[in-house]
Amino acid sequence: MILSTHAVVGGAVASLLSSHPAAAALAGFASHFAIDAIPHWDYPLRSISLGRGANNRRLSFNTATLTDFAIIGFDACAGLGLALWMFATKESIWTIAIGAVAAMLPDALQFLHTLYPRGLLHALQRFHWWAHSKRVLTGMFGVGSQLAFAGTIAALARSFH
Ligand SMILES: [Zn+2]
Repeated sequence: MILSTHAVVGGAVASLLSSHPAAAALAGFASHFAIDAIPHWDYPLRSISLGRGANNRRLSFNTATLTDFAIIGFDACAGLGLALWMFATKESIWTIAIGAVAAMLPDALQFLHTLYPRGLLHALQRFHWWAHSKRVLTGMFGVGSQLAFAGTIAALARSFH
Protein backbone atom coordinates (compact mmCIF):
# COMPACT_ATOMS: atom_id res chain seq x y z
CA MET A 1 0.00 0.00 0.00
CA ILE A 2 1.07 3.60 -0.23
CA LEU A 3 3.14 5.10 2.60
CA SER A 4 0.36 7.38 3.88
CA THR A 5 -1.94 4.42 4.40
CA HIS A 6 0.84 2.55 6.24
CA ALA A 7 1.52 5.60 8.43
CA VAL A 8 -2.15 6.08 9.32
CA VAL A 9 -2.55 2.41 10.23
CA GLY A 10 0.75 2.45 12.18
CA GLY A 11 -0.38 5.58 14.01
CA ALA A 12 -3.75 3.98 14.75
CA VAL A 13 -2.11 0.86 16.20
CA ALA A 14 0.32 3.01 18.21
CA SER A 15 -2.56 5.03 19.62
CA LEU A 16 -3.84 1.85 21.28
CA LEU A 17 -0.39 1.30 22.86
CA SER A 18 0.38 4.92 23.57
CA SER A 19 2.34 4.31 26.78
CA HIS A 20 4.50 1.56 25.25
CA PRO A 21 6.74 3.03 22.53
CA ALA A 22 8.66 -0.22 21.91
CA ALA A 23 5.44 -2.21 21.49
CA ALA A 24 4.08 0.54 19.22
CA ALA A 25 7.20 0.27 17.05
CA LEU A 26 6.87 -3.51 16.78
CA ALA A 27 3.13 -3.41 16.13
CA GLY A 28 3.54 -0.62 13.56
CA PHE A 29 6.24 -2.61 11.75
CA ALA A 30 4.09 -5.76 11.77
CA SER A 31 1.02 -3.86 10.55
CA HIS A 32 2.88 -3.13 7.31
CA PHE A 33 2.91 -6.78 6.26
CA ALA A 34 -0.62 -7.42 7.50
CA ILE A 35 -2.20 -4.73 5.34
CA ASP A 36 0.06 -5.32 2.32
CA ALA A 37 -1.65 -8.72 2.15
CA ILE A 38 -4.92 -7.00 1.17
CA PRO A 39 -5.30 -6.45 -2.60
CA HIS A 40 -4.55 -2.78 -3.20
CA TRP A 41 -3.32 -0.07 -5.49
CA ASP A 42 0.17 1.48 -5.53
CA TYR A 43 1.09 4.57 -7.49
CA PRO A 44 3.43 3.95 -10.41
CA LEU A 45 7.04 5.09 -10.12
CA ARG A 46 8.89 6.05 -13.26
CA SER A 47 12.46 5.31 -12.32
CA ILE A 48 12.73 3.54 -8.96
CA SER A 49 11.73 -0.12 -8.98
CA LEU A 50 10.59 -2.17 -6.00
CA GLY A 51 9.42 -5.75 -5.58
CA ARG A 52 10.67 -8.97 -7.03
CA GLY A 53 13.90 -8.71 -9.01
CA ALA A 54 14.09 -4.93 -8.52
CA ASN A 55 17.51 -3.32 -8.83
CA ASN A 56 18.20 0.36 -8.29
CA ARG A 57 21.98 0.20 -8.36
CA ARG A 58 22.09 1.93 -11.73
CA LEU A 59 19.63 4.65 -10.70
CA SER A 60 20.68 7.89 -12.37
CA PHE A 61 19.89 11.36 -11.19
CA ASN A 62 17.45 12.60 -13.76
CA THR A 63 14.01 14.18 -13.64
CA ALA A 64 12.21 10.83 -13.41
CA THR A 65 14.24 9.73 -10.37
CA LEU A 66 13.89 13.08 -8.62
CA THR A 67 10.15 13.06 -9.29
CA ASP A 68 9.91 9.58 -7.76
CA PHE A 69 11.80 10.69 -4.65
CA ALA A 70 9.61 13.80 -4.40
CA ILE A 71 6.41 11.71 -4.61
CA ILE A 72 7.70 9.21 -2.02
CA GLY A 73 8.85 12.03 0.27
CA PHE A 74 5.51 13.80 0.02
CA ASP A 75 3.64 10.54 0.63
CA ALA A 76 5.72 9.79 3.75
CA CYS A 77 5.42 13.33 5.18
CA ALA A 78 1.69 13.47 4.49
CA GLY A 79 1.31 10.09 6.20
CA LEU A 80 3.25 11.13 9.28
CA GLY A 81 1.36 14.43 9.43
CA LEU A 82 -2.03 12.70 9.09
CA ALA A 83 -1.17 10.10 11.74
CA LEU A 84 -0.08 12.81 14.21
CA TRP A 85 -3.09 14.98 13.40
CA MET A 86 -5.54 12.13 13.92
CA PHE A 87 -4.05 10.35 16.93
CA ALA A 88 -1.39 12.34 18.76
CA THR A 89 -1.94 13.97 22.11
CA LYS A 90 0.69 15.95 24.01
CA GLU A 91 1.71 12.79 25.87
CA SER A 92 1.54 10.31 23.00
CA ILE A 93 3.06 12.35 20.15
CA TRP A 94 6.39 10.45 20.12
CA THR A 95 4.79 7.03 20.35
CA ILE A 96 2.43 7.86 17.47
CA ALA A 97 5.37 9.12 15.39
CA ILE A 98 7.36 5.95 16.17
CA GLY A 99 4.38 3.74 15.19
CA ALA A 100 3.82 5.62 11.93
CA VAL A 101 7.50 5.60 10.93
CA ALA A 102 7.90 1.92 11.88
CA ALA A 103 4.89 1.12 9.68
CA MET A 104 6.55 2.80 6.68
CA LEU A 105 10.01 1.35 7.40
CA PRO A 106 9.59 -1.98 5.53
CA ASP A 107 9.28 -0.10 2.24
CA ALA A 108 12.47 1.86 2.97
CA LEU A 109 14.16 -1.47 3.72
CA GLN A 110 12.74 -2.79 0.47
CA PHE A 111 14.51 0.04 -1.34
CA LEU A 112 17.75 -0.66 0.58
CA HIS A 113 17.43 -4.29 -0.47
CA THR A 114 17.58 -3.27 -4.14
CA LEU A 115 21.00 -1.77 -3.36
CA TYR A 116 22.33 -4.44 -0.95
CA PRO A 117 20.40 -7.69 -1.51
CA ARG A 118 22.12 -9.57 1.33
CA GLY A 119 21.64 -11.15 4.75
CA LEU A 120 18.78 -10.02 6.91
CA LEU A 121 17.61 -7.51 4.29
CA HIS A 122 17.25 -10.35 1.82
CA ALA A 123 15.33 -12.53 4.26
CA LEU A 124 13.02 -9.64 5.07
CA GLN A 125 12.47 -8.87 1.40
CA ARG A 126 11.49 -12.47 0.73
CA PHE A 127 8.97 -12.30 3.57
CA HIS A 128 7.67 -8.93 2.39
CA TRP A 129 7.12 -10.23 -1.11
CA TRP A 130 5.54 -13.43 0.15
CA ALA A 131 3.11 -11.46 2.35
CA HIS A 132 2.34 -8.86 -0.30
CA SER A 133 -0.90 -9.33 -2.25
CA LYS A 134 -0.33 -10.34 -5.86
CA ARG A 135 -3.65 -8.81 -6.91
CA VAL A 136 -3.31 -5.25 -8.12
CA LEU A 137 -6.30 -2.92 -8.03
CA THR A 138 -6.26 -0.21 -10.64
CA GLY A 139 -7.71 3.19 -11.41
CA MET A 140 -10.20 5.16 -9.33
CA PHE A 141 -11.40 2.01 -7.59
CA GLY A 142 -7.86 1.33 -6.39
CA VAL A 143 -7.43 4.88 -5.08
CA GLY A 144 -10.90 5.03 -3.55
CA SER A 145 -10.68 1.66 -1.83
CA GLN A 146 -7.40 2.57 -0.16
CA LEU A 147 -8.77 5.92 1.05
CA ALA A 148 -11.82 4.12 2.43
CA PHE A 149 -9.59 1.52 4.09
CA ALA A 150 -7.35 4.11 5.81
CA GLY A 151 -10.43 6.06 6.89
CA THR A 152 -12.09 2.98 8.36
CA ILE A 153 -9.01 1.97 10.37
CA ALA A 154 -8.62 5.54 11.64
CA ALA A 155 -12.27 5.73 12.68
CA LEU A 156 -12.10 2.31 14.38
CA ALA A 157 -8.99 3.26 16.35
CA ARG A 158 -10.50 6.58 17.41
CA SER A 159 -13.67 4.87 18.59
CA PHE A 160 -11.50 2.91 21.07
CA HIS A 161 -10.47 6.11 22.87
ZN1 LIG B 1 5.10 -2.99 1.58
